[in-house]
Amino acid sequence: MLIVCPTPIGNLQDATPRQKDALASADIIACEDTRRTGKLLELFGIARKDGTPRLVSYHEHNEAGRTGELLRALDAGQTVVLTSDAGTPTISDPGYRLVREAAAQGHEVVALPGPVAAMVALSGSGLPTNRFFFEGFLPNKTKARKERLEALRALEVTVVLYESPYRVVELLEDVGAVYGEGHEVCAARELTKMHEEYMRGPVAEVCAELAAREIHGEFVVLLAPWRPNEAEEDIDAQIDAKIAELLEE
Ligand code: SAM
Repeated sequence: MLIVCPTPIGNLQDATPRQKDALASADIIACEDTRRTGKLLELFGIARKDGTPRLVSYHEHNEAGRTGELLRALDAGQTVVLTSDAGTPTISDPGYRLVREAAAQGHEVVALPGPVAAMVALSGSGLPTNRFFFEGFLPNKTKARKERLEALRALEVTVVLYESPYRVVELLEDVGAVYGEGHEVCAARELTKMHEEYMRGPVAEVCAELAAREIHGEFVVLLAPWRPNEAEEDIDAQIDAKIAELLEE
């Protein structure tokens, strides 16, 4: 049996009894970083007897090669648990090939519910959730990133992005260039951790606030749905604000 097992994205209390049972029952745990997952097992009080569960590294660089080995373990009747460093495996993380192959070969696949940073951020963002698009990481280079943002803007739904602290300001600058400086966004940082924070508002303001400080933690960046006449509405709002300012003077 193959069990897809999420792990916490920052708060150990988010691990469910089912997840802990799955990890404890594994013959093999396929994980991104064996040391990190080993530490998690320790924290959960899962003692490893006779070398089981065996931790096997499974990451984007060895995914293709390792899949065969894990399928052979399934063929031999072993329980393989797939985890990632944090959150749900296969979501912007390796694993879908293993799930696909295991299912195709007739093995039972059980996916456990658990944290996904995108879903936590979406539900806390206050942005429309009736329709949304999960994009994950955008390209690193500005030109390709802006092109992709233009395509996402055309969907006219809430867009959910993953970003590292090193590139989040660059990303928000490009969002401002493509969607307009006044476009509403939410930058969700350090979710489920002690310094969890949601920064909501026009992209230029959120970007300026982040640019002015030392940035720590991982980010989910959410973009409100684009409205095709948003640019004109922005100009109207600016004119109204200017008239009000002049009248006050
Ligand atoms: N599989 C994971 C999931 O289910 O969310 C995502 C893995 S992806 C490689 C890592 C990215 O997820 C980070 O760069 C960040 O964008 C986002 N992320 C993960 N944990 C987070 C957290 N606690 N707060 C904010 N973003 C987080």
